[in-house]
Amino acid sequence: MAYVRPIMTGGEPVLRRVAKKVDPKEISDPLFQQLVDDMFETMYAAPGVGLAAPQVNVSKRLFVIDTGEDEEHPQGTKHAVINPKIESAKEEVELHEGCLSVPGFIGDIVRYERVTVTGLDRHGKKLKLEGCDLFAQALQHEIDHLNGVLYIDKAKNIRKPAPKEEQEEEEM
Ligand code: ZN
Repeated sequence: MAYVRPIMTGGEPVLRRVAKKVDPKEISDPLFQQLVDDMFETMYAAPGVGLAAPQVNVSKRLFVIDTGEDEEHPQGTKHAVINPKIESAKEEVELHEGCLSVPGFIGDIVRYERVTVTGLDRHGKKLKLEGCDLFAQALQHEIDHLNGVLYIDKAKNIRKPAPKEEQEEEEM
C-alpha cells in the first residue's frame, strides 16, 4: 500500500538542506521501499513529473521521475534514482519551470537541453539515464532539490502563470 505524503512548500528548512547520501545497505529496508512507493503515489496525485525526497520532508538523495514516453524512451521514463550524479550536460536552453514546493508560480530558467545522470535504482543496481527536453529538465530540477536549491533561485520573471501557461505547465 502506498500513501500520499504532504508536500513541503515555501520556507520549510528541509527544502534548503543538502540532502544526505543514501547508504546502499539501506535500500532493501522495507521503510525505504515504502518511501519510494509513497513518493511515486505523491508525485502522481499532485500531479507532477518529478518529486525529490526533501519535498516529502526526507533529507536523502533520492528522487522519483516520470515525464512519460518520448522518442528516446518508448518504454517510458518512470524511475526512482538514488545518489544521482550529473555525468554530462550540453546545450543551454531557456524554459518555463514550475515546482510543487512553490505552488502557483512559474519562471523562466536556463537548463541544459541534454543530460546524462548516473545513480542507483530502487534495487541498488547501477542506473544510467540520458535524455533531453522535459526529461532532462526534470532530472536537473530534482538534483537541485537534493542540494537545497529551488528553481526560484535561478529563474527570471517569476510570475503567476497565464491560463494557457497553466495548462501547459508540468510541475516537479
Ligand atoms: Zn520542485
